[in-house]
Amino acid sequence: MSKQALFDDIDDDADRLTGLAEQLWANPELSLQEHDSAAALQDALREEGFTVESDVAGIDTAFVARYGDDDPVVGTMGEFDALPGMSQAATAEREPIEAGAPGHGCGHNLFGVGSLAGAIAVKRAIERGDCEGSVVYFGTPAEEVGAGKVYMIQAGAFEDVDAVITWHPDWYNAPNECSTLAMDAFDVQFTGESAHAAKSPEAGRSALDGVQLLGTGIEYMREHVPDPVRIHYVVTEGGEAANVVPEEAAMEVMVRAPDRAAVERVSDRVRDAAEGAALMSGTDADVTQTTGMYGVLPNGTLADSIRENMDAAEFPLSDEQASFAADLKATLDDPSYESVPPEHRDEATESAMFTDPIDAPDAGETAAYSTDSGDVSWNAPLGRFRAATWPAGTPLHSWQAVAAGKDLGTAGMLFAGKVVAGSLYDLLTDEELLAEARAEYEHRKGDREYESPLPSDADPYELAER
Ligand SMILES: [Zn+2]
Repeated sequence: MSKQALFDDIDDDADRLTGLAEQLWANPELSLQEHDSAAALQDALREEGFTVESDVAGIDTAFVARYGDDDPVVGTMGEFDALPGMSQAATAEREPIEAGAPGHGCGHNLFGVGSLAGAIAVKRAIERGDCEGSVVYFGTPAEEVGAGKVYMIQAGAFEDVDAVITWHPDWYNAPNECSTLAMDAFDVQFTGESAHAAKSPEAGRSALDGVQLLGTGIEYMREHVPDPVRIHYVVTEGGEAANVVPEEAAMEVMVRAPDRAAVERVSDRVRDAAEGAALMSGTDADVTQTTGMYGVLPNGTLADSIRENMDAAEFPLSDEQASFAADLKATLDDPSYESVPPEHRDEATESAMFTDPIDAPDAGETAAYSTDSGDVSWNAPLGRFRAATWPAGTPLHSWQAVAAGKDLGTAGMLFAGKVVAGSLYDLLTDEELLAEARAEYEHRKGDREYESPLPSDADPYELAER
């Protein structure tokens, strides 16, 4: 069979798929509260004959949907959480539907459904006998607050998958071939003794002193860490009033570096610094790790395969969508085209939607962010790409991204679904490709073993409460 059958399948199903994306868009749910969104995606997969395991890793919006019993096993991931305060109508002017309410500023309604489209198309190909194997859809919640995927890995959800293809909404079409930063995050809670700050300061022990001493310790530490290490912090609690010695004070600290081992070494020193700060201030310090992630292990083999599928799949943009994209693009104050190489910037500047696929612009680079997809990439070969769901130059987490997410973005979503489907189909039908992707994965990993960056008793719901 030709790959066109997979793509036609997604085009034939476009009304249902865009309807589902619109349903998620109209009901944006925050991390770990994505109940309706997770249920809608699970229903669609169940109807299609997938076996769905819910409540994975003790997270009631995490799920794994599987079709088939045979090897190889290929998978894709969907995110579906929204961002606080991003409510916006699907109009080309700033107009919240409900001021202060959540909105899909990162396009995760498109992300969740685009991957689902890919998984379903592959399932139908297996059912038709066009290929053999199994396809898995990982429903991965809570991307915006941290580490849903890390908990799912801890629970064994990614144990038997041979390769995974994923994507993210953006304003251009290209594979990702970059790495990302490994990261740890901590809450440090200092507890002292409150007292009247003027009348009996000698009776007090200031928790805020502990926080400030830890900040000072980190500033001195900065000079003596490996070059790419980044440490950032904020004071999340600093006392109530200047005339009361603060009994409680707290700080959030993040440590990032390309190399997981470097993060862990610096994290240990942050823990030591917290203990030292507690000793100096006569307080107690309680350090709780809230998030931890690996950097992405890129996979050039999968990036190349994704790139080929981008050329094969057509981008279904209607005239109405193109004209709305132009209106929406006109509202961008200062669009940046820096993320595509210089030779594509003219085209990006001139287009409302930049739909021509380009090569991975970031091979060999380490992008300055962290994602829990990093952990997936240490458990299976992971191919990543971005698809143009927004007008050229649109930043993530902008109101324009929300406005584009209802209808305009579904064109890029269907395109992404086709690229996911085509790439997974290649892995099921081309033994050599899968072997090569796995060999690259093993080679990049070397003798480093993946160990969960989170303590075994970490509670995902504590994250959402912070
Ligand atoms: Zn996102």
